[in-house]
Amino acid sequence: MTTAESDCLFCKIAAGQVPAEIVRDGERVLAFRDINPQAPTHILVIPREHHPDVASAARAETGLVDEIVAEAHALAEEEGIAGTGYRLVFNTGSGAGQTVFHLHCHLLGGRGMEWPPG
Ligand code: AMP
Ligand code: ZN
Repeated sequence: MTTAESDCLFCKIAAGQVPAEIVRDGERVLAFRDINPQAPTHILVIPREHHPDVASAARAETGLVDEIVAEAHALAEEEGIAGTGYRLVFNTGSGAGQTVFHLHCHLLGGRGMEWPPG
């Protein structure tokens, strides 16, 4: 593990070193409920492998971004929000509100969503 990864909260969750309410425990991707939910369903879908943001994983051509989005949709179906609609958010950079620099997809739903987002 590099220094960045050993300091990374989501790497620690993926390694089982920090507890989380895990809802999917896949080979390459896992998902857990956000500790500070912003909607009735608020799940974070992450790769086990450390990538600082969605663009770096996409550029590395890992296929992880496809897997994450497919997993988010499967979870939306399980949560009963796929039909009404849900929002996927990849905050990228601190100016956009990214606080954890390990790629994660926010799956938000179960309430009306406004546009533009705050
Ligand atoms: P972002 O601001 O896009 O980087 O999102 C980081 C998200 O991680 C926030 O929505 C936090 O509420 C969430 N978060 C931080 N720590 C934890 C944790 N220990 N377990 C679950 N979610 C967390
Ligand atoms: Zn990490």
